Amino acid sequence: MAEKILSGACLCGAVTYELTGPFDFFGFCQCSLCRKVTGGAFATNLFVALERFTWASGEDNRIDYKMPPPKKFGNAACKTCGSRVPRVLSSGDRVLIPAGSIMEDPGIAPTLVCTEDHTEWFTGLEKAVSGEPR
Ligand SMILES: [Zn+2]
Ligand SMILES: [Zn+2]
Repeated sequence: MAEKILSGACLCGAVTYELTGPFDFFGFCQCSLCRKVTGGAFATNLFVALERFTWASGEDNRIDYKMPPPKKFGNAACKTCGSRVPRVLSSGDRVLIPAGSIMEDPGIAPTLVCTEDHTEWFTGLEKAVSGEPR
């Protein structure tokens, strides 16, 4: 069976892209850097091999910020609307995709990572979703 082609776009639609599985990893990361970069409790990032990713439009309409070495962290955003958009990782062989910008279901379950580095107000996705008391 052929892999499904997924498509994604930023809020304004200037940056669009396509990708196909299999995907390396789908993570909800709660680390302090991911919190800063998203402004939220965690980042929702899907990772795919570079050869399974293509820009449809707007590759040049992005800010591609890299933290100074030795840090390998960065961020990419649409210059027009500021939405997080895909960026090639420093390893050069994988692409980080903010999963919320993908239009279709990627068909892979996310894993919560960096559980030791979280805010006091966010202590676990399972509890937050189920409404369980903290
Ligand atoms: Zn945009
Ligand atoms: Zn993180």
